[in-house]
Amino acid sequence: MTTDVKTFSRRRFLASAGILTAAAWLTPDELFCESENIVLAARKRAETAGITVQALRGNITALIGSGGNIAVLTGSDGKLVIDSGYVTSRARITDALAKLSPDPIKHLVNTHWHFDHCDGNEWMHSDGATILAHENTKKHLATTTRVEAWDYTFPPSPAGALPGEVLAAEKTLHLNGVTIILTYYGPSHTDGDISAYFVQADVLHCGDTWWNGHYPFIDYSTGGNIKGMIKAAEANLARVTDKTIVIPGHGKIAGKAELTEYRDMLGIIHDRVARLKKEGKSLDEIIAAKPTAAYDTKWAGSFINGDVFTKLVYDGA
Ligand SMILES: [Zn+2]
Repeated sequence: MTTDVKTFSRRRFLASAGILTAAAWLTPDELFCESENIVLAARKRAETAGITVQALRGNITALIGSGGNIAVLTGSDGKLVIDSGYVTSRARITDALAKLSPDPIKHLVNTHWHFDHCDGNEWMHSDGATILAHENTKKHLATTTRVEAWDYTFPPSPAGALPGEVLAAEKTLHLNGVTIILTYYGPSHTDGDISAYFVQADVLHCGDTWWNGHYPFIDYSTGGNIKGMIKAAEANLARVTDKTIVIPGHGKIAGKAELTEYRDMLGIIHDRVARLKKEGKSLDEIIAAKPTAAYDTKWAGSFINGDVFTKLVYDGA
């Protein structure tokens, strides 16, 4: 058992602890057969991934299919874009943005530093966008940053991809007749996650604090932890009503009911794993106890399986 789990801990974890939005149709087993690293494979898949355009409310639209879900606010002040997707999706994102309106991209907000949300920063900046993010997002983008779970070391981003402006706790923007409140969650999925709330339209972008219908990845390498993820889910719930449109980092756009189900899932699995850990059980024993079993059918479909999620919870329980 120990040997198996050791094998799991290294190979299976690396193979499936993913953000493979563009490769959601690949199972972790298939991904493991890829000769390339998971980060490179995800970028490559995005070269051919289509972009789905979903009108939300007011002049807010979602672009789905390139890494994290992208939100776009159009208007005469120029477009505000939340997250920039994979660089390999540039042509299709440019096309989708042009079809929405002729307004240039003026403002880009990064919900956190991960490449499936920031890869497009440099080209959006070269097209005229100023970039705004949490100060820790800038810190990670500006330096060499390793994510153990992806077995990948990101080099420092080029200057044009770095946020020109940072926030620490909260910042309010007024663009295109709309108020947008950016709020720092505290350490959760990483140590730099922020939400973007469009006040009048009542639309909330949660970044990767919410994965709708999927176990979430938690990036311990850059300050994320399960307790912070639960706190962030609570914070999201506290902000929304039954009418709020909620955009997850990954998964379908939905609302309070789905967010509630996600928060409950995180809390229950955390409590189970924490109890076993407190009893002195090892990671191997806790994985063998299958604390996620009742949830796997719904949540382990595309990205992260129950065993990997158990490890992610165990590390911070
Ligand atoms: Zn992420």
